[in-house]
Amino acid sequence: IEGIESLPDITARRADLAPGRIAMEEAASGRSLTYADLDGRAARVASLLRTRGVLPGDRVAILCRNRAAFWELLFGCAKAGAILVPLNWRMPPIELDLLLADCMPRLLFHGTSEAETAGALRHRCERVDLDSGYESIVDAMAAGCWRGSWPAGEPWYLIYTSGTTGRPKGVIYTYGMAIANFVNIGTAIDVAGSDTTLHFLPHFHTAGINLHALPTLMQGGRVLVLDGFDVEAVVRLLEQRRLDTFFGVPTVYHALLEHPRFTRAPLDHVRHWGCGGAPLPDRLALRCRALGIRVCNGMGMTETGPTAFLASPEDAWERIGSVGKPQLLVRVRIVDEAGEDVAEGEVGEVLFAGPGVTPGYWNDPEATRAAFTDDGWLRSGDLARRDADGFYHVVGRRKEMFISGGENVYPAEIENVLAAHPAVGEAAVVPAPHERWGEVGRAFIQPVAGAAAPSAEELAAFCRTHLAAYKVPRSFEFVPDFPRTAAGKVQKHLLCG
Ligand code: ATP
Repeated sequence: IEGIESLPDITARRADLAPGRIAMEEAASGRSLTYADLDGRAARVASLLRTRGVLPGDRVAILCRNRAAFWELLFGCAKAGAILVPLNWRMPPIELDLLLADCMPRLLFHGTSEAETAGALRHRCERVDLDSGYESIVDAMAAGCWRGSWPAGEPWYLIYTSGTTGRPKGVIYTYGMAIANFVNIGTAIDVAGSDTTLHFLPHFHTAGINLHALPTLMQGGRVLVLDGFDVEAVVRLLEQRRLDTFFGVPTVYHALLEHPRFTRAPLDHVRHWGCGGAPLPDRLALRCRALGIRVCNGMGMTETGPTAFLASPEDAWERIGSVGKPQLLVRVRIVDEAGEDVAEGEVGEVLFAGPGVTPGYWNDPEATRAAFTDDGWLRSGDLARRDADGFYHVVGRRKEMFISGGENVYPAEIENVLAAHPAVGEAAVVPAPHERWGEVGRAFIQPVAGAAAPSAEELAAFCRTHLAAYKVPRSFEFVPDFPRTAAGKVQKHLLCG
């Protein structure tokens, strides 16, 4: 951000302002850390990194479920100038080794439940078990801090993209991006120092860190840490605790709406309900509205740090189907194939710019070059239009669009229609080759839990009442669940072929 050259040492500043305030609480163990604790432990972690030979710019990897220690390491790395790489614990060693060969960490922290995976890795580096040894090593360290502020342009952590469309790429997150996210989220959802937010999305995806745990910590609020998404645990916490802000992907809302106690729980204490990461089906938004929940649909990418668009609570019920408007520090264009801005209402590719956008991918100048236009705009690969009132509508991914009989077909539009059928839980549509039409839609359906699967004929008839004939899928297959990323997103490339 122009004029802002660095981020102050957040935990040190927060510990100075309100040392006794709770920063973090682990829901399962009940263990909590004040800001003074968090700062002190992060400073000891910084010493630990230095004593293990970690130099500024070196990578440090972490392979574990959500836990307070992750945040000690995140802030410890900032104090030591190291770059944290959260790894996806659902990946087998062979996949992890590809990421490790890419970022070459000097040190790997893991939980005991990931010890077997860590042991099977080919990448050789020193390891620390967070469940055995870590506590005593950290306690024995003297607090250390090698810099009082963190340069805005330097990398803080890497987030590997979810791999929805293929090989994950290491998105560089700078300290400046954390400031931009703090401004974007802070202003959009009014983050307060008195807030408690629930942190259950995995910390190896951008939402796990940035929505809303990191901005809440920067503001001096409280983060309630769950080791992952467990619908029963989340409903219980919603019943028992005051949670001010909540962020989930659409799959999380699906699971909540199917939980019998969620629909009866008093939910007024949640001031802001955010949703993003994948298209929010209209029916899901309408079901939430019927319960009085204003789900704010937001769209972003790992590369945009992450929230680029977010519907405001005032618009959440009136503008279902829209992702709202660009966030405060986000600049947006919608362009045609030639890179020219399209007219209002027309579909084109969304381009992003602003201080929240990544400078590029780790160790991959070619992918970085391909991701940006010559004048520095990030190509999202998403197709969208802006309506007459300035609201944006994502129509799908450019890569997912296919052409049937010369007509463009956007799978997201068909999935939204299918999801409106009462017996359909989730739907995913991919193209299949067709002799006459070039390509036609092939639908995969996850029926609503406990409901009988509708017939293919019924679904085709349902689609025909809502969609032009060339968009109606030619086949419907029923699946108990989809291949998903750890954030719950459907991995469509695994459905193709
Ligand atoms: P990879 O780049 O590895 O394929 P990915 O693209 O899924 O992974 P993310 O950064 O997690 O990586 O996802 C960003 C994409 O998710 C966006 O480009 C967009 O296609 C989609 N998306 C996110 N939020 C929304 C939303 N609210 N509505 C529609 N699509 C969304």
